[in-house]
Amino acid sequence: MNDERNGSKSIAILGSTGSIGTQTLEVVRNNPQLQVAALAANSSVEKLEAQVREFHPKMVGMWTEKAAEDLRIRISDLDVKVVTGMEGLLEIAVLPESQVLVTAIVGMIGIRPTIAAIEAGKDIALANKETLVTAGHLIMPLARERGVSILPVDSEHSAIFQSLNGEPGNRIEKILLTASGGPFRGRTREQLAGMQVEDALKHPNWSMGRKITVDSSTLVNKGLEVMEAKWLFDVKLDQVQVVVHPQSIIHSAVQFVDGAIIAQLGMPDMKLPIQYALFYPDRRPMDGKRVDLFELQQLTFEKPDQETFEGLKLAYQAARQGGSMPTVFNAANEKAVALFLDKKISYLQIPELIGSAMEQHSVIKNPTVEQILEAEQQTYEYIAGRISYGW
Ligand code: NAD
Ligand code: MG
Repeated sequence: MNDERNGSKSIAILGSTGSIGTQTLEVVRNNPQLQVAALAANSSVEKLEAQVREFHPKMVGMWTEKAAEDLRIRISDLDVKVVTGMEGLLEIAVLPESQVLVTAIVGMIGIRPTIAAIEAGKDIALANKETLVTAGHLIMPLARERGVSILPVDSEHSAIFQSLNGEPGNRIEKILLTASGGPFRGRTREQLAGMQVEDALKHPNWSMGRKITVDSSTLVNKGLEVMEAKWLFDVKLDQVQVVVHPQSIIHSAVQFVDGAIIAQLGMPDMKLPIQYALFYPDRRPMDGKRVDLFELQQLTFEKPDQETFEGLKLAYQAARQGGSMPTVFNAANEKAVALFLDKKISYLQIPELIGSAMEQHSVIKNPTVEQILEAEQQTYEYIAGRISYGW
């Protein structure tokens, strides 16, 4: 939805102070055709103030009232509306001045703003994978109905999207979803048992937020991405094959019905998929290191070890059960990772908690947004209960 006259495009970013949010703003910095209509973040007032002064949005959202009050005082010299809470996120999502909503927020909190934006006809540059994992059955049909594009920002899904370019109709035989394998690739279960927060935060190739970095080490992130791929590209679960590729150069590939495989290769840098989503179908110049095949010499591939890294196995299980189960998988993981980062539980207790939360849940088929959020809440409560009983 480019403005035909000058090629300019206006965007709103939910989660502008995070890893994806700040890299989106870097892309904006390098592309004067992009304007920022609105920004939202949780509570980092100082960072948001700096962003407001640099990018001049009309509206900004802070999750907490206290942070919003603080921000209002700091930017009282500017004509910017400061909104708060879920209402604020919803107001930003439907802002008439913006054409694309970048969902760079973390967690299921993104569901309602994403739905609101689609209903208002905005294209979505989607990083917030939790929304598709838990509400893909609501979001994808709605987007089709409203004729809006869901443009993937997640690097693997962007690679798949790029590989599908120029291929009309769904001729996918298989999606080859690549995974670096994370910092613990090749480790045994016994070795995993002793892993500490500092170990899990050392990703070999990508620099990302803390939660998703831990998710990469457990392969839960890949499990969420399998579900994300299923919704985005309308394929069956058994058409998504995870391939461990430690160099993170092939960002994913599509195998078509004639056996041809088309892949996208590049340096591990989120700015490329972000820029591609914002300018699709155009490719814009971008600086940075190029892949040097001579330097690399070889690219290698392995089968994922689902017995050691149960996160992936549990994700396939949740996806197969469907309905509200992916929500339980995601919510249990969110809580378990937060507990691990707080050093309240050990590394292997992450999959253990996810597994037991899934076991106690009875699946609701085709859940509504309310039922999804209820299942999330119940999962949080279940885990809080488990923890208070002596973990
Ligand atoms: P992050 O933790 O670095 O940033 C999250 C952002 O969301 C922050 O700006 C934070 O202020 C904001 N936020 C959190 N709660 C909020 C609330 N209640 N209201 C308003 N803002 C809120 O996370 P990230 O790594 O940038 O990941 C964001 C999303 O993108 C996640 O869904 C993640 O899975 C996905 N993703 C990230 C990467 C990556 O490289 N970081 C890659 C692919 C996909
Ligand atoms: Mg990814």
